[in-house]
Amino acid sequence: MAAIPTYHYPQQGKLTVLGAGESGVGTAILARQKGFDVWVSDSGRIADHYKALLREAGIPFEEGVHTESRILDAAIAVKSPGIPAHVPIVQKLKAQRIPVIAEIEFAAQYTNAKLIGITGSNGKSTTTMLTWHMLSQGGLNVGLAGNIGRSFALQVAREQYDYYVLELSSFMLDDMVHFRADVAVLLNITPDHLDRYGYKLENYVESKFRIVRNQQPGDLFIYCADDPVTVAALAKHYTAAKLLPFSLHTQVTHGAYLNDNNELVINVPNQDKFTMDINELSLQGKHNVYNNMASGLVAKAQELRNASMKESMGSFKNIPHRLEFVACIAGVNYINDSKATNVNAVWYALESFAPQVVLIMGGVDKGNDYEMLRDLVKTKVRAIVCIGKDNSRIYDSLEDDAKIIVNSSSMRDAVEIASHLAQKGDTVLLSPACASFDWFRNFEDRGNQFKVAVMDL
Ligand code: ADP
Repeated sequence: MAAIPTYHYPQQGKLTVLGAGESGVGTAILARQKGFDVWVSDSGRIADHYKALLREAGIPFEEGVHTESRILDAAIAVKSPGIPAHVPIVQKLKAQRIPVIAEIEFAAQYTNAKLIGITGSNGKSTTTMLTWHMLSQGGLNVGLAGNIGRSFALQVAREQYDYYVLELSSFMLDDMVHFRADVAVLLNITPDHLDRYGYKLENYVESKFRIVRNQQPGDLFIYCADDPVTVAALAKHYTAAKLLPFSLHTQVTHGAYLNDNNELVINVPNQDKFTMDINELSLQGKHNVYNNMASGLVAKAQELRNASMKESMGSFKNIPHRLEFVACIAGVNYINDSKATNVNAVWYALESFAPQVVLIMGGVDKGNDYEMLRDLVKTKVRAIVCIGKDNSRIYDSLEDDAKIIVNSSSMRDAVEIASHLAQKGDTVLLSPACASFDWFRNFEDRGNQFKVAVMDL
């Protein structure tokens, strides 16, 4: 069991929760249970089922407004990760020296469970789900939380888990100060969300490395030894944790690697060695070998049996919108990778398919550098069909390498154009590299519209 880390936040009095979504409502319920006098404020509309939960717990709230005097009358405030630190109300709280903390940080004070934190630019949800799947199949009493599913705070209030697997986005990490991961996993660092980090990769790297902060001897840090950005940053960040690297290119002593027979090997001190043919993994593609290595290291370090790990790695079904097979129509495979919201994810998606690919991409650009796609576009892509309002940067970077590049007016239009351009044996791949909110509500909406359009062909 992890020792409770030292937090120095008020343990009683008035507590303000900013934002009443999954995270805020869970926080309010946990805080109430711990004896705080809780007040919830959301400047937008609160969903009906969250209002019902708050009412049921007898927690007062407001929506559509932030009543400043009441918000500032608090010993501590907890803000939802969606609310940026620069908004005026957060600044005012800070100016009054009222601690403004994150849900994960707040809730971590009230559990003795072992915390497994997973971050990275890509692969967080997949690896978090896979890790949770492996640990629960292996018989551990484990919760799943963070950027995924039900809030951590609500589960700490209501459940008695021995472990939590937490998906941690960089926005969540930005708000963490005392949080300590017993096991920290950093999958990779590639440019993403740079608009929130002053367009500086180093700021984003700092955010990701907060995951090792506060780690103690006996804790584990699992990271990708093939990722130059991670390796360079690790040299500058001290961590007391035991390092467990994973690599496709180097046979590390302790960690995970590929052996000469193309088997994934996991070698954790004091545990028996695990090996598995990578063709037997249920998730295919190089990026998923990395994800399996990371999850496997977590599982082996929790002393799971090899047979159980193998069974889980062979049976795991990924969540939708990540290289999701939709249909094969007239010999063309249609793949929904709507969750690919940055260039690196698109690179791995293209890498996973044989030529030729008709690539549907575009949307809200977050300061993307498309140059890294040029070689794959040249060798594998039959055509690019753009979606979204402004794709001038995609044209600027890829026009010379793409044989065909065209615009579309809607997802339905894009799918129809793609179906005309594709030939038997091709793959039509939605892998946008961009955020979705110019044409869609979110990446799920974008992926669902793609699936409907494909099924209507
Ligand atoms: P996240 O939660 O970090 O956004 P997901 O698991 O939802 O990650 O996957 C997002 C996208 O990244 C998908 O297109 C997926 O195919 C791709 N992806 C998954 N794992 C990796 C990885 N290790 N490296 C690069 N891309 C990945």
